[in-house]
Amino acid sequence: MPASIIDGKAIAASIREGAAVRAAEYTQKYGRPPGLAVVIVGENPASRVYVNNKKKACAQCGIYSEEHALPGFCTEDQLLDLVRSLNDDPNIDGILVQLPLPDHINEAKVIETIDPAKDVDGFHPINVGNLMIGRPCLRPCTPAGVMELIKRAGVELKGKRATVVGRSNIVGKPVSLMLLAEHATVTICHSRTQDLPAVCREADVLVVAVGRPEMVRGDWIRPGAVVIDVGINRLPDKKLVGDVAFDEAVEVASAITPVPGGVGPMTIAMLMNNCLDAAFALRG
Ligand code: NDP
Repeated sequence: MPASIIDGKAIAASIREGAAVRAAEYTQKYGRPPGLAVVIVGENPASRVYVNNKKKACAQCGIYSEEHALPGFCTEDQLLDLVRSLNDDPNIDGILVQLPLPDHINEAKVIETIDPAKDVDGFHPINVGNLMIGRPCLRPCTPAGVMELIKRAGVELKGKRATVVGRSNIVGKPVSLMLLAEHATVTICHSRTQDLPAVCREADVLVVAVGRPEMVRGDWIRPGAVVIDVGINRLPDKKLVGDVAFDEAVEVASAITPVPGGVGPMTIAMLMNNCLDAAFALRG
């Protein structure tokens, strides 16, 4: 029997509806909407699309958003000054600096300058550290979205073998920590992992975040496993595919996320949640 499809689009829509309810509560209670500042540097077309989508989602949820666009030739100090002014702005609860930044700007320094309480991307080392030691924190949006999909698909993680392919700071590592926090037995794979297909075949839950089109084949998947495909890859013919060969995997897995329409829509929905978490937390 083919796998059931985990509908990220529908789940993301329901999360955004919940965010709109919380935003209305916040606005009524505190006399202003929660506020997100989005900083974009330079003219990267992909970043422009992401920023526009984030602003649109804010408008739909009743979150105030403002964009700060700096030219690609701005200095690091100019950007750091802007971030500091947003840290001090009482109408702003969340700050997001769209990555990547131009090469002459030190990304780590910029992220470390954001007030951790307003770090809605969850990339500040304080939030990363709190995630590591299991304290409340702002969690990175894509991994948090993966966890929400697993939860809403009704998958019990306790005691299960979860394998994550990819160890990036924005997806692989944080999602591994989140799976561990839910009492899964976690294996993290990367480009030097030996016999990757065999390691994947041990997984009850397989999360793939590699950036290689359809790398994970159907025979890498344990029958009945749950497969979460984070990958977004554009093929030369413009078709969008994940890191998992969907047509093969769907015949073996018990549940699977499609690409597009799986993890993708969750990232912005979780960003809305993070904005609200930050806004309420800042009020104590
Ligand atoms: P990175 O390039 O930062 O990391 C890729 C990881 O995959 C690395 O850890 C790398 O290993 C590992 N890897 C690469 N090749 C192989 C291989 N042949 N076998 C095993 N492991 C391998 O990517 P990201 O984590 O940023 O993104 C991964 C994918 O997720 C991309 O397709 C990206 O577009 C997508 N993505 C989607 C998002 C969304 O849905 N909103 C958000 C973020 C990302 P090593 O560390 O050894 O180099």
